[in-house]
Amino acid sequence: MIRHLTLCALMLAGTGVLACEEKPAVPADAPKVERLKSDQWCWTHDLPKDKCTSCDRKLIPALKKEKDWCGEHAVAESLCVKCDPKSKERIDALRPADKPKDAK
Ligand SMILES: [Zn+2]
Ligand SMILES: [Zn+2]
Repeated sequence: MIRHLTLCALMLAGTGVLACEEKPAVPADAPKVERLKSDQWCWTHDLPKDKCTSCDRKLIPALKKEKDWCGEHAVAESLCVKCDPKSKERIDALRPADKPKDAK
């Protein structure tokens, strides 16, 4: 009887291990940033369209209001590579992977 119980416990333990291994491996430090679609990207200035003040000057007051404006370099502060070299990584992470053929 005791022998039978031990066997059951071992089987349960085995199942538990298997269940753990079947979980999909999700890296904890996976980047959460989603790439933009190619029609959301300004390929001329290599910036998200909604931050490209070279194309749309009207974006400037909105960015200033959001305190996301670099007056020195006239770009969105969060994307100002001159102020923060790491901004380039942010831009690279957002840039759509599929560049349209007609884009410059
Ligand atoms: Zn632009
Ligand atoms: Zn700047």
